[in-house]
Amino acid sequence: MPELPEVETVVRNLRPVLVGREITGFEAAWPKVTAPTAPATFARQVVGRAIKDVRRRGKYILLDLDRGHVHLHLRMTGHLFVIRPGEAMPDQQIRAWFGLSGGIRLLFRDQRKFGRIGYLADLAPLEARLGPEPLAAKFTAALLAGMLAQRRRQIKPLLMDQSFIAGLGNIYVDEALFAAGIHPQAEAETIPAGKVKALHRAIRRLLRRAIEHQGTTFSNFRFGRNESGRFRDQLKVFGREDQPCFVCGTALAKTRVAQRGTHWCPRCQAP
Ligand SMILES: [Zn+2]
Repeated sequence: MPELPEVETVVRNLRPVLVGREITGFEAAWPKVTAPTAPATFARQVVGRAIKDVRRRGKYILLDLDRGHVHLHLRMTGHLFVIRPGEAMPDQQIRAWFGLSGGIRLLFRDQRKFGRIGYLADLAPLEARLGPEPLAAKFTAALLAGMLAQRRRQIKPLLMDQSFIAGLGNIYVDEALFAAGIHPQAEAETIPAGKVKALHRAIRRLLRRAIEHQGTTFSNFRFGRNESGRFRDQLKVFGREDQPCFVCGTALAKTRVAQRGTHWCPRCQAP
């Protein structure tokens, strides 16, 4: 599933093309793409509006309109890209598209059909469900330490909880916990201060570097017409089960933590 660096990559790719354009139409080939709203209702909310900005919040792509906001979530296999005037629909997996001024179309391809598009007059309901942005200046090591204190939850599911921190998912949580030497099932409040600092540093460094590499394409992630992220080669544990740890040489483990396949080093991240 696309995480913060992948969504940021999509946003940076689309922003220069979309900002300043008017939405001239909306069609859904898969009616549930705007669920729980009907596509016709969603179209009435957005057609005629101008796109003022394109940005990311957590794993959401936001189109700020001159009135209200479109929010898009890629979920498993969503792919958002633009085609030029006169270009035909590329394939059968296009679930929805926006017509835009200048004759371009913004297409939403989604093989698995879990992705969603919606409209909000005000972003408050979305903000209420999302924790802080890990790359924001105010996300300090002290803030993270305070957030982890008195939390009796396992660290991996806690970091993946979007209401705790927005934007992290399976890949970058496994990588950050490895970099900080923290067992994925460690209880949050028991993690020593030094490791919390290392975790904070690891999260920010990983996300920044992954954005520089335009995200991680493990199987599905695409941006632009058909481009892939280049961060996969930089992963230290994710997808490397049974291979030697780059730090200590121990065979990396893959176990299930909170229903998610979890990659870790039994020695570097010993409980
Ligand atoms: Zn190791």
